[in-house]
Amino acid sequence: MSESVPAPCYIDADSSQRPVAVILLAGGKGARAGFSLPKQLQRLGHQSVLQWSMDAFEQHPRIETRLLVADDGVRDALGARLAGWTIADAGAERQQSVANALALLANLPDDQIILVHDAARPGVDGAVIDRLIAAVASGDHIAAIPTLPVPDTLAHQQLDAAGHDVMGDVVDRSALARVQTPQAFRLGHLRAAHAAAGGHAATDDAQLVRALGVTLVAVMGDARLHKLTYAEDLMILNAMLTNQRPMRTATGMGYDVHKLVPDRPLWIGGITIDHSHGLLGHSDADVALHALTDAILGALADGDIGDHFPPTDPKWAGASSDRFLEFAGQRVTARGGRIQHLDLTIIAEAPKIGPHRLAIRHRISEILNIPIDYVSVKATTSEKLGFTGRREGIAAQAIATIILPE
Ligand code: MG
Repeated sequence: MSESVPAPCYIDADSSQRPVAVILLAGGKGARAGFSLPKQLQRLGHQSVLQWSMDAFEQHPRIETRLLVADDGVRDALGARLAGWTIADAGAERQQSVANALALLANLPDDQIILVHDAARPGVDGAVIDRLIAAVASGDHIAAIPTLPVPDTLAHQQLDAAGHDVMGDVVDRSALARVQTPQAFRLGHLRAAHAAAGGHAATDDAQLVRALGVTLVAVMGDARLHKLTYAEDLMILNAMLTNQRPMRTATGMGYDVHKLVPDRPLWIGGITIDHSHGLLGHSDADVALHALTDAILGALADGDIGDHFPPTDPKWAGASSDRFLEFAGQRVTARGGRIQHLDLTIIAEAPKIGPHRLAIRHRISEILNIPIDYVSVKATTSEKLGFTGRREGIAAQAIATIILPE
């Protein structure tokens, strides 16, 4: 690598306000991760890994020029989502990809601040972008990288005579740092570094720019810039990026009774069951769904079914109780929560609930759009004692377990 390339220094009082460009590298095939899809197209929460980085750069007010390096597969997958991005062809190696991008930025001046980021680090956010731009725009430094300390002991590893990997000398980790992306440069340095590198392959741009004699200042990195390399990294990123809000568990209890009368359809657990009697009530009197609705409202500390659907209101006459339960489920979703489990007990002398248990679980899971495994339905008699034992009515009780954001 040439050492004779001059290292120009751009110090510009106005640069703290000037727009910034970004090269987002999404050309990798992700062979090490063993995914069927390229790793940048793996799903992470509500969108692909690549889209997390695209969002961060689109939302940053200083970034005006956005360039994505991607192959045809990524372009096809993203389609209209690529609006606002100039696309460069992916090269066989990372370095060729950056060179392809630089060729499309020929109209930008050498003192343009440019970020280079690997799409395999979806946790990029405005804070780290701000730190990098501030370091370079101030004029105190001309290139910046985000770094983190090394938490593990680091040691050389070597083969013993029997061919086993054995521990060698420990490396002083206090002098080492993990280098992340995005990395911030002046475009002139990045151009010169890539021109000087020739065929020398580098794992990032910082080492090429440093080879010019440029000093790169370290700014605080971010654990969330974790790189997606292996399949298990996707689990780590999922936990860090998609589940950031601390949640608490809440439980609620519901209890309901309705009277059995002849010549009414028997609605119980969202289905009708053939029986000589049905339950009497203002709505369809589905005692099981009412208990479940109250259990969920209880977990939300959000009143009870009568508060939301007053029996005095004629519009609920004959109403199908699935809408009450659906409403309670929507209240959970609206609060950013999720139902984790429901346990329902139906107390009736007759009819037998057992043969209908699966259909009831299925219907409840359908109304609430939750897995059937989250819905338990049990039935019991009261040994011919009391109003349920005398077949005067049916009772139901339920416990709902939900999680809610703190
Ligand atoms: Mg009721």
